[in-house]
Amino acid sequence: MSELRFPEYDPEICAYCGACVAVCPALALDLKEKRIVFNKEKCRQCLACTKICPVGALK
Ligand code: SF4
Ligand code: SF4
Repeated sequence: MSELRFPEYDPEICAYCGACVAVCPALALDLKEKRIVFNKEKCRQCLACTKICPVGALK
C-alpha cells in the first residue's frame, strides 16, 4: 500500500537540478531562481519527486 502525503522540501539541501520538476506528473513543481515552488493544489501526493531527488531535499 502506498503512502499518501505531501512531500517536504528543504531549500537548504536543494541543488536546483530540476529532476523533481521533470518527474512530477501533475506539474506541481517549478524551479524559480534558487528555490522549488510547490503547488499544493496540483499535487497528487505520488511522492515520485521524493524518490528522484539526488540529494534528499524532497522527503
Ligand atoms: S508528490 Fe507527486 S504530484 Fe506531488 S509534487 Fe511530488 S511528484 Fe508532483
Ligand atoms: S530533485 Fe531535489 S535537488 Fe533537484 S531541484 Fe528537486 S528538490 Fe532540488
